[in-house]
Amino acid sequence: MNKIKYCFASVLFLIGAVAMAQEEGDAKPERQPGHYNQSKFKQMYEEFATPNTYRSASGAPGPDYYQQQADYVMDIELDDKNARIYGEETITYHNNSPDDLEFLWVQLDQNVRAKDSKSPLRNGDGVNIAYTADNFAETFVNEPFDGGFNIEFVKDANGKPLSHTINQTMMRVNIPQPLKSGEKISFSIKWWYNIPDHTVNRARSGYEYFPKDGNRAYVIAQFFPRMAVYSDVEGWQNHQFWGSGEFALPFGNYDVNITVPADHVLDATGVLLNRDEVFSKEMMKRYKEAQKSYDKPVIIVTQEEAEAAEKGFSEKKKTWKFKANNVRDYGFATSRKFIWDMQAVKIGGKDVMAVSLYPKEGNPLWEEQSTKAVVQTLITYSKHTFDYPYHKAISVHAKNQGMEYPMICWNYGRPNEDGTYSDRIKFGMISVIIHEVGHNFFPMIVNSDERQWGWMDEGLDTFMQYLAEQEFGKNYPEVIAPNEKYPSRRGEPAKIVPYMSGDQNFISPIMSNPENVHQLGPNAYGKPATALNILRETVMGQELFDHAFKTYAQRWKFKHPTPEDFFRTMEDASAVDLDWFWRSWFYTTDYVDIGVKGVKKYYVSNKPTKEMEKYMADRNLTEADLPPLVYLAEEDSEDFVPELKGKSPTETSQNLKEFMMDNMTEAERTQVKEPKYFYEITFEKPGGIPMPLIVEYTYADGTKESITYPPQIWRKNDAEVSRVMASQKELVGIVVDPKLETADIDTTNNAWPSKDEKSDFEKFKENIKG
Ligand SMILES: [Zn+2]
Repeated sequence: MNKIKYCFASVLFLIGAVAMAQEEGDAKPERQPGHYNQSKFKQMYEEFATPNTYRSASGAPGPDYYQQQADYVMDIELDDKNARIYGEETITYHNNSPDDLEFLWVQLDQNVRAKDSKSPLRNGDGVNIAYTADNFAETFVNEPFDGGFNIEFVKDANGKPLSHTINQTMMRVNIPQPLKSGEKISFSIKWWYNIPDHTVNRARSGYEYFPKDGNRAYVIAQFFPRMAVYSDVEGWQNHQFWGSGEFALPFGNYDVNITVPADHVLDATGVLLNRDEVFSKEMMKRYKEAQKSYDKPVIIVTQEEAEAAEKGFSEKKKTWKFKANNVRDYGFATSRKFIWDMQAVKIGGKDVMAVSLYPKEGNPLWEEQSTKAVVQTLITYSKHTFDYPYHKAISVHAKNQGMEYPMICWNYGRPNEDGTYSDRIKFGMISVIIHEVGHNFFPMIVNSDERQWGWMDEGLDTFMQYLAEQEFGKNYPEVIAPNEKYPSRRGEPAKIVPYMSGDQNFISPIMSNPENVHQLGPNAYGKPATALNILRETVMGQELFDHAFKTYAQRWKFKHPTPEDFFRTMEDASAVDLDWFWRSWFYTTDYVDIGVKGVKKYYVSNKPTKEMEKYMADRNLTEADLPPLVYLAEEDSEDFVPELKGKSPTETSQNLKEFMMDNMTEAERTQVKEPKYFYEITFEKPGGIPMPLIVEYTYADGTKESITYPPQIWRKNDAEVSRVMASQKELVGIVVDPKLETADIDTTNNAWPSKDEKSDFEKFKENIKG
């Protein structure tokens, strides 16, 4: 059978060769825009940074890769009455770079809330169509909140003051001599600031005040002066914190003592060192149970106990002591109002505690769902990246929050006052928990630069979030039945269409700084997540994608990757050239739109077509000068005669018949299944993004055939391509991207016959049914 196919192919090839010769001989047709544009498949040498000894061309860390280390010893005290926080910290900074550093940069992120912050002055969009009441008050009525850092001192290891210069959210520490390559330096900073109400203007850190009981629940982060990153890519990453671009932080070890009112319940990044001191006997007993409870959480502090504590307002203090190794940041949550539950989950043979902390206002939703979402996240993410390396993952309930720190994160999702909640609230809450706990992997461990590249953590995390959501029902059928689809907000190709087809004035490439884009949600979360989902399902396939994605995570865990490290690793580990994909999805604002433009029907003929006659006449050739040829006559042309219809090719082409007689045995000839229908199908691509051309063909007998042509089908002609199909059955329908896998923004051109012609097609279908 193979041999026969080959014979047919060589006949068709000959026709192809003639057609090509003709194109060269005649005046070239007018070029369509992009007709000969090969740039979409050109390699990304101009866009990508040149590989070097720090970062290899494979996408892996190079032999000279280095990263800095910043260790912190901190004493923190919360003044609950005045909502202030005080701290004294000693930073030990290790210069592992090959460079000598003349000064050090420290980040003072809370200065974004200083009275003289430039952050509110950078917006030039005019009057909003509406304001939330709190936002209106904040913008027009209230005195500006004074929430910047008060730096009391910066001292060297001997207690001598160190000169320093504050430039908005950055502080340059002017060290007396350069910090030599390979050396370390210790210095101390004492500071305090007023804690903001985070429910105003959605601050990432602060408190929520509960007027009914007079308590606050604190979620505290980016609260201490933190070392900036110094790297081979940026030098000092000292871009100001304006509010949208998140954080860039080096890894280090933390020893942190946090002093809070004695009746507070607190959890934080790191191992709790003095559990015996801060836990009651009853809590200790329950905690030991929780460590052995793998199927459901154990309540450590009950709602009843939390409600009793709300009334306490203890004047006494308690200090919670933590140690955290190899983390890039630090956060904690504390309140009298917290209910606490925990369970164990096995990850790579080790026990991790999945933890939730929430005020009664979160119940019953939080008690029912939060820790489940933590467990699911640890399982799904670990499978696709690396085993979660820390000993716990905490989900804290905070109104309107969705924010992540190592081992701990803040999440929204609050039921109505009577405790009822809709599916929208429930799934929104599960999703945000998956997302924020998932950030432990990207960027807390795979430590990308959020200030520069929002998508590197948000996009990868949102993609992983989609996978965890879709697996949720496997572990928790009581939450989402196995036959139901989890209502993911992002990830499905169709969900990104409104954004990608929107007004280009408000769309930026994914490869943009988060401060400079109009729609950060779709830009840094939705589009990259969808692009990766499409890459996995439609372009690479799950096996190749999953291995490459895992390779990236493994190569860059506890390191600082760049976009190129990701792009290169995905190709390096899969042997799939994806430069075209990165270029179009990440570096442009192009969209996908592919359709079927037209179908021509042909029959085999022995008589030269009009086109062929002209070709021969132009060159003074006769048929005798050429090898025996087979022609395809188009039904709607003057080449067509009715006698050709319904016949097999050997009946209408003597040349073909003779060729087969000469080259095939009788046994072989009887095996031949000759195609009777020949089609030229033209596909068009009004969209800028080249994608695999996924086509479903329907035949007159009702059978369907799916063919996926690789994206390289567009490499020579970006506007349209034509495929020749030969079939024994009549073709009655064509659908491009039938399962909506590619985020095609306009599906009105995806079918033949087109929707307008559908009535005929429908009639035909009815006929064949009848
Ligand atoms: Zn996020």
